[in-house]
Amino acid sequence: DPRLLAISAAIRVVPHFPKPGIMFNDITPLLLRPKAFKDAIEIFAERYRGMGIHAVAGIEARGFMFGSPLAIAIGAKFIPLHKPGKLPGKTISEAYALEYGTDCLEMHVDAVQPGENVLIIDDLVATGGTLRAAIRVLERAGAEVVECGCIVGLPKFKAGYRINGRPVYMLVEAI
Ligand code: 5GP
Repeated sequence: DPRLLAISAAIRVVPHFPKPGIMFNDITPLLLRPKAFKDAIEIFAERYRGMGIHAVAGIEARGFMFGSPLAIAIGAKFIPLHKPGKLPGKTISEAYALEYGTDCLEMHVDAVQPGENVLIIDDLVATGGTLRAAIRVLERAGAEVVECGCIVGLPKFKAGYRINGRPVYMLVEAI
C-alpha cells in the first residue's frame, strides 16, 4: 500500500526520550500531515468497516487521537480507556506492570454491553502490556475483542503475534 510510505515517513524517532537508551517513536508529525493522518484512519476503516464492530476503544492519550476518527468512519461508538482517576462514573479497572512500577486502565462499566464486538486502538505496541490490560478490562465487562490495531509496532507483531489470543494489526514497523 503506497500510503504506508508517507505514514512511516511521518513518524519521527527520538533517541533517549523519555529516558536514556529509549528510542521513542513520535507520532505527532503524522498529526501535522492531514493527508497521511487521514490515510492512516482510512486504511483502518477499510479493514474494519462492515465487520459488525460496535465500539472502538482507544487507550489514553494517543489511542484517542486515532480511535475517535476511526469510530466515526466505521459508524461505531468510541470508548475511552483512561489512566486512573479521570472518569466520573462507575468504573472497572485493570492494573498492569511497567518496567518500573505499575499503571492502570479504567473504563466506565456501562460503556459496553456483554457480547458487543470491540476493536482496541493505540498508537504503538512495544511489549504488549498496555494492550493486554485493555483486552482484560473489556473482556471482564463481557465484550468480544475482535483485534488490536496500532499505527506502529515492533516487528514481531507484524508476523501474526497475538496478545491474550487476540490478533494484533499494525500499519508500520517501529525503528
Ligand atoms: P507497551 O505496553 O506495549 O510496552 O507500550 C505501549 C504503550 O506505551 C502505548 O500506550 C504507547 O503509547 C506507549 N509507548 C511506549 N513506547 C512508545 C514510543 O516509542 N512511542 C510512542 N508514541 N508511544 C510509546
